[in-house]
Amino acid sequence: MNTKTLTLAAPGPKQPLQPFQYDPGALGCGEVDIAVESCGICHSDLSMLDNDWGMTTYPFVPGHEVVGRVTALGEHTKRLKVGDRVGLGWYSNSCGCCPQCLGGDQNLCPTAEGTIVGRHGGFANRVRAHWRWVSPLPEELDASKAGPLFCGGITVFNPIVQFGVRPTDRVAVIGIGGLGHLALKFLRAWGCEVTAFTSSDAKRTEALQLGAHRTLNSRNPQELAGAAGSFDFILNTTNVSLDWNQYIAALKPRGRLHSVGAVLEPLAVSAFPLIVGQKSVSGSPLGSPATVDTMLQFCARHGISPTTETFPMSRANDALEHLRSGKARYRVVLTNDLD
Ligand SMILES: [Zn+2]
Ligand SMILES: [Zn+2]
Repeated sequence: MNTKTLTLAAPGPKQPLQPFQYDPGALGCGEVDIAVESCGICHSDLSMLDNDWGMTTYPFVPGHEVVGRVTALGEHTKRLKVGDRVGLGWYSNSCGCCPQCLGGDQNLCPTAEGTIVGRHGGFANRVRAHWRWVSPLPEELDASKAGPLFCGGITVFNPIVQFGVRPTDRVAVIGIGGLGHLALKFLRAWGCEVTAFTSSDAKRTEALQLGAHRTLNSRNPQELAGAAGSFDFILNTTNVSLDWNQYIAALKPRGRLHSVGAVLEPLAVSAFPLIVGQKSVSGSPLGSPATVDTMLQFCARHGISPTTETFPMSRANDALEHLRSGKARYRVVLTNDLD
Protein backbone atom coordinates (compact mmCIF):
# COMPACT_ATOMS: atom_id res chain seq x y z
CA MET A 1 0.00 0.00 0.00
CA ASN A 2 1.18 3.50 -0.84
CA THR A 3 1.95 5.19 2.47
CA LYS A 4 1.77 8.63 0.85
CA THR A 5 -1.43 10.63 0.92
CA LEU A 6 -2.53 11.70 -2.57
CA THR A 7 -3.98 15.19 -2.68
CA LEU A 8 -4.71 18.20 -4.84
CA ALA A 9 -2.85 21.26 -3.62
CA ALA A 10 -2.34 24.88 -4.62
CA PRO A 11 1.37 25.83 -4.69
CA GLY A 12 0.57 29.48 -3.93
CA PRO A 13 -2.28 31.99 -3.53
CA LYS A 14 -5.00 31.83 -6.23
CA GLN A 15 -3.14 29.14 -8.15
CA PRO A 16 -4.81 26.06 -9.64
CA LEU A 17 -4.67 22.83 -7.68
CA GLN A 18 -2.26 20.19 -8.87
CA PRO A 19 -1.39 16.67 -7.68
CA PHE A 20 0.68 16.67 -4.49
CA GLN A 21 1.71 13.82 -2.21
CA TYR A 22 2.81 13.89 1.40
CA ASP A 23 3.74 11.37 4.03
CA PRO A 24 1.42 11.78 7.02
CA GLY A 25 3.78 9.82 9.30
CA ALA A 26 2.71 7.60 12.17
CA LEU A 27 -0.74 8.04 13.69
CA GLY A 28 -0.61 10.04 16.91
CA CYS A 29 -2.52 9.32 20.09
CA GLY A 30 -6.26 9.74 19.51
CA GLU A 31 -5.83 10.34 15.78
CA VAL A 32 -7.96 8.72 13.09
CA ASP A 33 -7.24 8.15 9.41
CA ILE A 34 -10.24 8.53 7.10
CA ALA A 35 -10.35 7.18 3.54
CA VAL A 36 -12.11 10.06 1.77
CA GLU A 37 -15.22 9.08 -0.23
CA SER A 38 -16.36 12.62 -0.95
CA CYS A 39 -15.70 16.19 0.11
CA GLY A 40 -17.91 19.26 -0.18
CA ILE A 41 -16.56 22.65 -1.23
CA CYS A 42 -17.15 25.61 1.06
CA HIS A 43 -16.55 29.32 0.42
CA SER A 44 -13.89 29.10 3.12
CA ASP A 45 -11.91 26.81 0.82
CA LEU A 46 -11.82 29.67 -1.71
CA SER A 47 -10.95 32.24 0.99
CA MET A 48 -8.12 30.02 2.22
CA LEU A 49 -6.93 29.24 -1.32
CA ASP A 50 -6.72 32.99 -2.01
CA ASN A 51 -5.17 33.66 1.45
CA ASP A 52 -7.93 36.20 2.17
CA TRP A 53 -7.47 35.66 5.91
CA GLY A 54 -3.66 35.72 5.86
CA MET A 55 -3.33 32.33 7.54
CA THR A 56 -2.85 29.94 4.61
CA THR A 57 0.27 27.80 4.27
CA TYR A 58 1.29 26.38 0.90
CA PRO A 59 1.15 23.88 -0.65
CA PHE A 60 -2.47 24.21 0.40
CA VAL A 61 -4.85 21.23 0.28
CA PRO A 62 -8.47 22.44 0.61
CA GLY A 63 -11.40 20.36 1.84
CA HIS A 64 -13.21 20.37 5.19
CA GLU A 65 -16.56 18.73 4.42
CA VAL A 66 -15.36 15.16 4.35
CA VAL A 67 -17.31 11.91 4.35
CA GLY A 68 -15.38 8.66 4.37
CA ARG A 69 -14.53 5.48 6.21
CA VAL A 70 -12.22 5.03 9.17
CA THR A 71 -9.16 3.05 8.07
CA ALA A 72 -6.86 3.31 11.09
CA LEU A 73 -7.07 4.36 14.73
CA GLY A 74 -4.30 5.78 16.90
CA GLU A 75 -3.88 4.73 20.51
CA HIS A 76 -6.61 5.74 22.97
CA THR A 77 -9.12 6.51 20.24
CA LYS A 78 -12.67 6.34 21.55
CA ARG A 79 -16.10 6.06 19.96
CA LEU A 80 -14.93 4.85 16.52
CA LYS A 81 -13.88 1.59 14.91
CA VAL A 82 -12.25 0.74 11.59
CA GLY A 83 -14.82 0.71 8.80
CA ASP A 84 -17.19 3.25 10.38
CA ARG A 85 -18.61 5.82 8.01
CA VAL A 86 -17.84 9.26 9.40
CA GLY A 87 -17.80 12.97 8.67
CA LEU A 88 -15.18 15.65 9.37
CA GLY A 89 -15.68 19.40 9.17
CA TRP A 90 -13.79 22.65 9.77
CA TYR A 91 -12.24 21.58 13.08
CA SER A 92 -9.98 18.57 13.38
CA ASN A 93 -8.76 18.93 16.98
CA SER A 94 -9.21 20.92 20.18
CA CYS A 95 -7.18 20.95 23.38
CA GLY A 96 -9.60 19.01 25.60
CA CYS A 97 -8.60 20.85 28.78
CA CYS A 98 -9.56 24.55 28.51
CA PRO A 99 -12.77 25.81 30.18
CA GLN A 100 -14.59 25.76 26.82
CA CYS A 101 -13.54 22.19 26.03
CA LEU A 102 -14.40 21.04 29.57
CA GLY A 103 -17.76 22.78 29.28
CA GLY A 104 -18.71 21.08 26.01
CA ASP A 105 -18.01 24.13 23.83
CA GLN A 106 -15.05 22.57 22.01
CA ASN A 107 -15.91 24.74 19.01
CA LEU A 108 -14.93 27.77 21.12
CA CYS A 109 -11.55 26.31 22.17
CA PRO A 110 -8.97 29.09 21.63
CA THR A 111 -6.49 26.57 20.22
CA ALA A 112 -8.92 24.48 18.14
CA GLU A 113 -7.19 23.33 14.97
CA GLY A 114 -8.75 23.81 11.54
CA THR A 115 -8.69 20.87 9.14
CA ILE A 116 -7.17 23.12 6.44
CA VAL A 117 -5.25 25.54 8.66
CA GLY A 118 -1.61 24.49 8.88
CA ARG A 119 -2.55 20.98 7.83
CA HIS A 120 -3.71 19.21 4.72
CA GLY A 121 -7.45 18.86 4.07
CA GLY A 122 -9.85 16.53 2.36
CA PHE A 123 -9.19 17.07 -1.36
CA ALA A 124 -7.26 13.85 -0.94
CA ASN A 125 -7.59 10.11 -0.78
CA ARG A 126 -7.04 10.26 2.97
CA VAL A 127 -7.30 12.78 5.79
CA ARG A 128 -6.40 12.68 9.47
CA ALA A 129 -8.10 14.19 12.53
CA HIS A 130 -8.60 13.67 16.26
CA TRP A 131 -11.47 11.29 17.09
CA ARG A 132 -13.36 14.03 18.99
CA TRP A 133 -14.09 15.83 15.73
CA VAL A 134 -14.79 12.73 13.64
CA SER A 135 -18.55 12.15 13.76
CA PRO A 136 -20.27 8.83 12.99
CA LEU A 137 -22.73 9.28 10.13
CA PRO A 138 -26.23 7.88 10.77
CA GLU A 139 -27.10 5.16 8.24
CA GLU A 140 -30.32 6.92 7.23
CA LEU A 141 -28.35 9.79 5.67
CA ASP A 142 -27.24 9.71 2.04
CA ALA A 143 -23.45 9.66 2.44
CA SER A 144 -22.88 11.07 -1.05
CA LYS A 145 -24.67 14.30 -0.04
CA ALA A 146 -23.80 14.52 3.66
CA GLY A 147 -20.37 16.21 3.45
CA PRO A 148 -21.71 19.79 3.41
CA LEU A 149 -23.47 19.20 6.73
CA PHE A 150 -20.08 19.19 8.48
CA CYS A 151 -19.27 22.83 7.72
CA GLY A 152 -22.12 24.62 5.96
CA GLY A 153 -24.80 22.65 7.80
CA ILE A 154 -23.49 22.87 11.34
CA THR A 155 -22.67 26.57 10.88
CA VAL A 156 -26.37 27.38 10.44
CA PHE A 157 -27.73 24.67 12.74
CA ASN A 158 -25.60 25.75 15.69
CA PRO A 159 -27.17 29.21 16.25
CA ILE A 160 -30.68 27.70 16.13
CA VAL A 161 -29.66 25.62 19.16
CA GLN A 162 -27.43 28.20 20.89
CA PHE A 163 -29.96 31.02 20.83
CA GLY A 164 -33.05 28.95 21.55
CA VAL A 165 -34.95 29.60 18.34
CA ARG A 166 -38.51 28.39 19.02
CA PRO A 167 -40.91 26.67 16.63
CA THR A 168 -43.30 29.58 17.12
CA ASP A 169 -40.70 32.12 15.98
CA ARG A 170 -40.81 34.12 12.77
CA VAL A 171 -37.37 33.86 11.24
CA ALA A 172 -35.63 35.08 8.10
CA VAL A 173 -32.55 34.00 6.20
CA ILE A 174 -30.31 36.36 4.20
CA GLY A 175 -28.44 34.70 1.34
CA ILE A 176 -29.72 31.52 -0.30
CA GLY A 177 -26.49 29.69 -1.09
CA GLY A 178 -24.51 26.84 0.43
CA LEU A 179 -25.34 27.85 4.01
CA GLY A 180 -28.65 29.61 3.46
CA HIS A 181 -30.34 26.75 1.62
CA LEU A 182 -29.63 24.47 4.59
CA ALA A 183 -30.85 27.14 7.02
CA LEU A 184 -34.18 27.23 5.16
CA LYS A 185 -34.51 23.43 5.39
CA PHE A 186 -33.57 23.33 9.08
CA LEU A 187 -35.79 26.23 10.17
CA ARG A 188 -38.78 24.88 8.23
CA ALA A 189 -38.42 21.47 9.88
CA TRP A 190 -37.87 23.22 13.26
CA GLY A 191 -41.40 24.57 12.93
CA CYS A 192 -40.71 28.27 12.34
CA GLU A 193 -42.39 30.63 9.93
CA VAL A 194 -39.56 31.09 7.44
CA THR A 195 -38.86 34.06 5.17
CA ALA A 196 -36.06 34.10 2.62
CA PHE A 197 -34.49 37.41 1.66
CA THR A 198 -33.60 37.07 -1.99
CA SER A 199 -32.02 39.53 -4.37
CA SER A 200 -33.24 37.95 -7.60
CA ASP A 201 -36.56 36.63 -8.87
CA ALA A 202 -34.74 33.52 -10.08
CA LYS A 203 -33.96 32.52 -6.52
CA ARG A 204 -37.49 33.27 -5.30
CA THR A 205 -39.02 30.03 -6.59
CA GLU A 206 -36.01 28.05 -5.45
CA ALA A 207 -36.25 29.51 -1.93
CA LEU A 208 -39.90 28.46 -1.70
CA GLN A 209 -39.00 24.94 -2.86
CA LEU A 210 -36.24 24.77 -0.26
CA GLY A 211 -38.64 25.48 2.59
CA ALA A 212 -39.34 29.21 2.81
CA HIS A 213 -42.97 30.12 3.42
CA ARG A 214 -42.43 33.44 1.68
CA THR A 215 -39.73 35.64 0.23
CA LEU A 216 -38.85 39.31 0.43
CA ASN A 217 -36.82 41.12 -2.20
CA SER A 218 -33.92 42.66 -0.29
CA ARG A 219 -33.21 45.04 -3.20
CA ASN A 220 -36.65 46.59 -2.82
CA PRO A 221 -36.47 49.15 0.02
CA GLN A 222 -40.27 49.21 0.33
CA GLU A 223 -40.50 45.46 0.91
CA LEU A 224 -37.82 45.61 3.58
CA ALA A 225 -39.40 48.65 5.24
CA GLY A 226 -42.77 46.89 5.14
CA ALA A 227 -41.30 44.05 7.20
CA ALA A 228 -40.41 46.36 10.13
CA GLY A 229 -40.87 44.71 13.53
CA SER A 230 -41.68 41.25 12.12
CA PHE A 231 -38.87 38.82 12.95
CA ASP A 232 -37.59 37.13 16.10
CA PHE A 233 -34.40 35.98 14.42
CA ILE A 234 -32.63 36.94 11.20
CA LEU A 235 -29.73 34.77 10.08
CA ASN A 236 -27.20 36.31 7.70
CA THR A 237 -25.25 33.79 5.63
CA THR A 238 -23.65 36.23 3.19
CA ASN A 239 -20.19 37.76 3.49
CA VAL A 240 -21.06 41.11 1.93
CA SER A 241 -21.83 44.39 3.68
CA LEU A 242 -25.56 45.10 3.81
CA ASP A 243 -27.65 47.89 5.27
CA TRP A 244 -27.68 46.22 8.68
CA ASN A 245 -29.85 48.91 10.26
CA GLN A 246 -32.68 48.02 7.89
CA TYR A 247 -32.50 44.40 8.98
CA ILE A 248 -32.37 45.41 12.65
CA ALA A 249 -35.50 47.47 12.00
CA ALA A 250 -37.14 44.30 10.65
CA LEU A 251 -36.62 42.59 14.03
CA LYS A 252 -39.26 42.48 16.75
CA PRO A 253 -38.25 43.84 20.17
CA ARG A 254 -35.84 41.28 21.74
CA GLY A 255 -35.02 40.08 18.21
CA ARG A 256 -31.58 38.97 17.09
CA LEU A 257 -29.60 39.62 13.92
CA HIS A 258 -27.09 36.80 13.75
CA SER A 259 -24.27 36.54 11.22
CA VAL A 260 -22.47 33.36 10.25
CA GLY A 261 -21.22 35.04 7.07
CA ALA A 262 -17.65 36.28 7.49
CA VAL A 263 -18.21 39.91 6.47
CA LEU A 264 -14.75 41.47 6.37
CA GLU A 265 -15.84 45.11 6.70
CA PRO A 266 -16.93 46.43 10.11
CA LEU A 267 -20.69 46.18 10.76
CA ALA A 268 -22.09 49.71 10.83
CA VAL A 269 -24.91 49.46 13.35
CA SER A 270 -26.83 52.21 15.17
CA ALA A 271 -27.01 51.69 18.93
CA PHE A 272 -30.35 53.39 19.56
CA PRO A 273 -32.63 50.78 17.90
CA LEU A 274 -30.72 48.06 19.75
CA ILE A 275 -31.29 49.82 23.06
CA VAL A 276 -34.95 50.71 22.74
CA GLY A 277 -35.89 47.32 21.27
CA GLN A 278 -33.45 45.33 23.43
CA LYS A 279 -32.17 43.77 20.21
CA SER A 280 -28.96 41.81 19.69
CA VAL A 281 -26.34 41.45 16.99
CA SER A 282 -24.22 38.32 17.23
CA GLY A 283 -22.10 35.75 15.46
CA SER A 284 -21.01 32.15 15.95
CA PRO A 285 -18.62 29.59 14.48
CA LEU A 286 -19.41 25.94 13.81
CA GLY A 287 -20.96 23.80 16.51
CA SER A 288 -19.47 21.42 19.06
CA PRO A 289 -19.22 17.68 18.31
CA ALA A 290 -22.35 17.10 20.43
CA THR A 291 -24.28 19.69 18.40
CA VAL A 292 -23.04 18.00 15.20
CA ASP A 293 -24.54 14.73 16.47
CA THR A 294 -27.82 16.51 17.26
CA MET A 295 -27.88 17.98 13.74
CA LEU A 296 -27.24 14.59 12.13
CA GLN A 297 -30.07 13.02 14.14
CA PHE A 298 -32.36 15.92 13.22
CA CYS A 299 -31.51 15.46 9.52
CA ALA A 300 -32.15 11.71 9.75
CA ARG A 301 -35.51 12.26 11.47
CA HIS A 302 -36.73 14.90 9.00
CA GLY A 303 -35.14 13.53 5.82
CA ILE A 304 -32.98 16.63 5.36
CA SER A 305 -29.95 16.53 3.10
CA PRO A 306 -27.96 19.23 1.33
CA THR A 307 -28.94 19.99 -2.27
CA THR A 308 -25.76 19.14 -4.12
CA GLU A 309 -23.99 19.01 -7.47
CA THR A 310 -21.28 16.42 -7.98
CA PHE A 311 -17.88 16.68 -9.66
CA PRO A 312 -15.10 14.08 -9.69
CA MET A 313 -12.32 15.22 -7.37
CA SER A 314 -9.87 15.17 -10.29
CA ARG A 315 -11.90 18.12 -11.68
CA ALA A 316 -11.65 20.12 -8.46
CA ASN A 317 -10.37 23.20 -10.32
CA ASP A 318 -13.52 23.27 -12.48
CA ALA A 319 -15.64 22.77 -9.37
CA LEU A 320 -13.91 25.64 -7.53
CA GLU A 321 -14.50 27.89 -10.53
CA HIS A 322 -18.16 26.82 -10.61
CA LEU A 323 -18.52 27.89 -6.97
CA ARG A 324 -16.52 31.10 -7.48
CA SER A 325 -18.77 32.17 -10.33
CA GLY A 326 -21.85 31.82 -8.12
CA LYS A 327 -23.35 28.98 -10.13
CA ALA A 328 -23.39 26.29 -7.43
CA ARG A 329 -26.90 24.96 -6.59
CA TYR A 330 -26.33 24.82 -3.71
CA ARG A 331 -23.26 22.92 -2.62
CA VAL A 332 -20.65 21.20 -4.76
CA VAL A 333 -19.44 17.78 -3.61
CA LEU A 334 -16.31 16.16 -5.03
CA THR A 335 -16.32 12.39 -5.37
CA ASN A 336 -12.89 10.96 -4.69
CA ASP A 337 -11.34 9.49 -7.86
CA LEU A 338 -7.74 10.16 -6.88
CA ASP A 339 -7.01 6.49 -6.21
ZN1 LIG B 1 -16.48 25.67 5.52
ZN1 LIG C 1 -9.80 23.71 24.48
